[in-house]
Amino acid sequence: MGAVRADDTEVAIVGAGPAGLVLSHLLAARGIDCVVLEQRSREYVEGRVRAGVLEHPTVELLRNLGVAERLDREGLAHRGIQLAVDGVRHHIDFVELTGHSITVYGQREVVRDLIAARLTAGGEIVFEAADVMPAAIETNRPVVRFRCGDEARAVRCRIVAGCDGSHGQCAGLVEPRTVAEHAYPFAWLGVLAEAAPTQDELIYAFHERGFALYSMRSASITRLYLQVAPDEQLGAWPDDRIWNELATRLPTGDGFTLNTGPIIDRGITAMHSSVTSPMRHGNLLLAGDAAHIVPATGAKGMNLAIADVSVMADVIEQALRHGRTERLGEYSPTCLPRVWRTQQFSHRMTTMLHRFGDDPFQRELQRAELARITSSVAAATDLAEHYVGLPFARLPEVVHQ
Ligand SMILES: Cc1cc2nc3c(=O)[nH]c(=O)nc-3n(C[C@H](O)[C@H](O)[C@H](O)COP(=O)(O)OP(=O)(O)OC[C@H]3O[C@@H](n4cnc5c(N)ncnc54)[C@H](O)[C@@H]3O)c2cc1C
Repeated sequence: MGAVRADDTEVAIVGAGPAGLVLSHLLAARGIDCVVLEQRSREYVEGRVRAGVLEHPTVELLRNLGVAERLDREGLAHRGIQLAVDGVRHHIDFVELTGHSITVYGQREVVRDLIAARLTAGGEIVFEAADVMPAAIETNRPVVRFRCGDEARAVRCRIVAGCDGSHGQCAGLVEPRTVAEHAYPFAWLGVLAEAAPTQDELIYAFHERGFALYSMRSASITRLYLQVAPDEQLGAWPDDRIWNELATRLPTGDGFTLNTGPIIDRGITAMHSSVTSPMRHGNLLLAGDAAHIVPATGAKGMNLAIADVSVMADVIEQALRHGRTERLGEYSPTCLPRVWRTQQFSHRMTTMLHRFGDDPFQRELQRAELARITSSVAAATDLAEHYVGLPFARLPEVVHQ
């Protein structure tokens, strides 16, 4: 075996998703050196279709980092959402209820902007890094080994940021750990269609045949979801069936029309929740989907990943710039309460809107909850506050005596 090429940095970030990329910008803004190691190619990472709703605090953070120029130009600001209950639409006006809006801007656009800005600023992102594996995370000199083609490489660092998503390696290095999980008895069939949205707000539809979500990614692309069985096969859903089912579940005919068009992406996503705790072991810190999964109903996954790294950057700055390594211990307890509040909101949206079976008792409870939200300002405000985004958690201030 040939010699290993070893490099030094302060923080090795595993994963170039929203968590890893935003962290690289936050660290750069603090003058902290980092390298991002990503197993996939740049084209693959930039092409992945996923989230599309940005909370207000996420947009503010991206603006503060100077990476929101295209977001501000092309993102679609939404005043609120619509809840369609048995075919009747109700508007929840976030701006009126909270003073804040949400922004629809695709995750892949966020990722493209973050990668371009990082590389332009001279930052290092290693794409197609294979067999990435952190080691010595309990020492103050961790190392992350990986391969680039035939070349064996290693990055020596002070901190490893595990931002490698739900199928990554880093969470498994936290020992001992607790994983609290919940599985839902359905999945989402999601499609991306070349069809101009016919209205400028998302519609969450509660329907006898199951949940449907009408959303969009841009002025010409619609993003649509249908609740399906957890073991559903894509082959069972030809285009006609998808459009017919959407037209049935969405409140068409009430001033709302559903544009159809070529389906350019489709996939089935399982719905489940999980939280790994603690989110830190030694000098390894976890963020985003590496630490927790939320069901997509609340549109929180990407936002929560970015919220985590806003805390992580502060903790790392304390440890590396102020010698306060003991503050690494505050990372997990600072993040987890917001993680659980977000988890609770996502669970509530999921249980309120999906069909769980034929139990009429449960269906009427769901209708009662929806009636409360659509008729009470207090209940609607609670939903709105969570949807537009709770304030990011902050490290406790240190009181100097
Ligand atoms: C269909 C769908 C719809 C969604 N809708 C929304 C929404 O509307 N709003 C919302 O906020 N969230 C949504 N989400 C969730 C959101 O996409 C994720 O929560 C978000 O991507 C998490 O970001 P992350 O950076 O933590 O992880 P990821 O985006 O998964 O990034 C992890 C990165 O690590 C890389 N990686 C993995 N293993 C390794 C390894 N061993 N070595 C090196 N690199 C590795 C991966 O290739 C990836 O690039 C949705 C998700 C899906 C699937």
